Amino acid sequence: RETVDILGVNIDKITAEYALKKAERYVRTPGVSVIYTPNPEIVMAAYENPEFRKVLNEADMCTPDGIGVVYASRMIHNPVPERVAGFDLACGLLESISKTGESVFLFGAAPGVAETAKARLEEKYPGLKVAGTHHGYFKPEEEAEIVEEINASGASLLFVCLGAPKQEKWIHRNRERLRVNLCMGIGGALDVFAG
Ligand code: UDP
Repeated sequence: RETVDILGVNIDKITAEYALKKAERYVRTPGVSVIYTPNPEIVMAAYENPEFRKVLNEADMCTPDGIGVVYASRMIHNPVPERVAGFDLACGLLESISKTGESVFLFGAAPGVAETAKARLEEKYPGLKVAGTHHGYFKPEEEAEIVEEINASGASLLFVCLGAPKQEKWIHRNRERLRVNLCMGIGGALDVFAG
């Protein structure tokens, strides 16, 4: 893995195309892989919070999501090739699994949003299997049950959309219990998918 240290966060020096290839491999490979997509706001939050920084640095991939991260890498003369937006990477993955048959679980956003996103995405990506959905407003004691629901769905890919840093911390906390192959934290994506 070739990375650049931006304020303590290891950001992958990858193109969008390479990120998608690697993510597709993660989806097919047993064992939980984790992708975060830090934008400048997330990098700043991590700079101020060592615990959050550690969470980000334990991912398998951190994409440079935002031109500010790209500029920061150029300023320290260790440039990433280009911006790799988490949203675009998520769309690429959905397109790809709609053809290969793996399924996705949509977790996060207000009640009802993930269901609408499921319907929209199944329209947009014919063949896409959405194995399940769950909203993102739960009590701590409901967490284990949600993990069970995700595991029981048989999904290979999990989108966690709780906003940062909540989604990264959730993934970190539950990584050992999850049976999906790839977890991605992608903020407000479900709201966008739902339209
Ligand atoms: N959200 C959630 N549970 C929470 C807080 C937020 O599911 O406890 C959802 C919220 O409904 C929205 C997303 O997380 O869909 C956060 O989106 P935002 O654009 O704020 O996150 P960002 O992309 O900036 O990280």
